[in-house]
Amino acid sequence: MANNSDILVIGGGIAGLSAAAELSKNARVTVLEAEEQIGFHSSGRSATMVHYALGDRLVRELTLASRCFFDSPPGGFSDVPLGHRMSVLVHGREDERNQLDALYEELSIFAELERLNEEGVHRLCPLLKAEARHGIADRNGTRLDPHALLQGNLRMLRRNGSRLETGSRVSSIGRHGDAWSATTEGGDTYSAAIIVNAAGSWADQLARFAGVAPLGLEPKRRTIITFDAPPGTDLDRLPFAKTIGDELYFAPESGRLFASPMDEEPSEPCDAQPNEYEVALAAYRMEERTTVKVNSIHSRWAGLRTFTPDRHPAAGFANDATGFFWLAGQGGFGLQTSPAMSQITASLIFGTPWPAIDVSAEALSPSRFLRQPA
Ligand SMILES: Cc1cc2nc3c(=O)[nH]c(=O)nc-3n(C[C@H](O)[C@H](O)[C@H](O)COP(=O)(O)OP(=O)(O)OC[C@H]3O[C@@H](n4cnc5c(N)ncnc54)[C@H](O)[C@@H]3O)c2cc1C
Repeated sequence: MANNSDILVIGGGIAGLSAAAELSKNARVTVLEAEEQIGFHSSGRSATMVHYALGDRLVRELTLASRCFFDSPPGGFSDVPLGHRMSVLVHGREDERNQLDALYEELSIFAELERLNEEGVHRLCPLLKAEARHGIADRNGTRLDPHALLQGNLRMLRRNGSRLETGSRVSSIGRHGDAWSATTEGGDTYSAAIIVNAAGSWADQLARFAGVAPLGLEPKRRTIITFDAPPGTDLDRLPFAKTIGDELYFAPESGRLFASPMDEEPSEPCDAQPNEYEVALAAYRMEERTTVKVNSIHSRWAGLRTFTPDRHPAAGFANDATGFFWLAGQGGFGLQTSPAMSQITASLIFGTPWPAIDVSAEALSPSRFLRQPA
């Protein structure tokens, strides 16, 4: 059976769904998702934060351009808010003071920050040990509701007459005349002039199906545990607290606390599972940097954060295959940059004006990884 659309988006995570929702304003789009549910992999396993202490200037620009979407999504997008305010605290010891000062300079272009002394740090986050002497606070961080974000994009897609097919794992891709055709393991074939590769950790694998050169994507596992907060902790007032070095973050989570040792273990694309070592490391670092005792772990999970070689996302047509569009490498910032990345995708595909984002098409182009040495 042939199913024809204008654009096939492969991957029903936040990258694929947000791009598809935007593209469906001007085209008939079909999203093919391997799993039975959307957001099953990275998009459903994140820390769900929007903040600037992540990535570098380019990532911060994409985050800045995305923020207003989360605060005021388009009419009809969602019946519930896409997130709520949660302060973000980046903290350090005395010997990390210069690093905090430097980060403060970098971030203050993007957010209204407070530079906190020891007293301010402990007032904002009483769980930290006394060694936390310096901090940067952004009172306007956002904790997202990933379910609302994914469902909102799906709702927009459907409202525009486009569709999602779950349980549709693409296992081969071919080119016939001017069109691509993607065949699923179940034997269904879908065709379109344009394929958007939003397959997350599998994006290089998907490119190989189409005979397109891979970008060298690197999936890296990250682990999260949840556990009880000490009795009497005011969870509503706790921030998302992160060490200035990439050692630990923690935040309130559904009446408990969650923490991550900020691990980046290289992995094959897979249904990532937590590893005992990183689970123990999360508990150890929590006890090392805070006064909390992790007596028992309530839940644990892991997900893959997939990076390009320069840790910037890739969005653009492949230069070795007509109509093959890359949307990959969203690393640890794929939720918080999804509105900007989907607008950029629509601009690059339809040739419409570039959105008001201080990032160039060249900086995101997948061709930057494929240039031959002179
Ligand atoms: C622990 C952790 C914490 C994080 N914290 C944050 C955070 O605080 N803020 C933030 O913005 N980001 C965060 N991230 C990063 C964010 O989750 C990712 O950047 C984002 O989810 C990537 O989205 P995606 O759609 O590219 O990938 P995915 O959600 O993995 O979606 C890709 C989809 O493609 C499908 N697929 C693959 N191959 C095929 C095929 N052959 N056929 C059909 N479908 C296929 C997969 O089934 C999958 O559903 C975090 C990630 C982790 C793991």
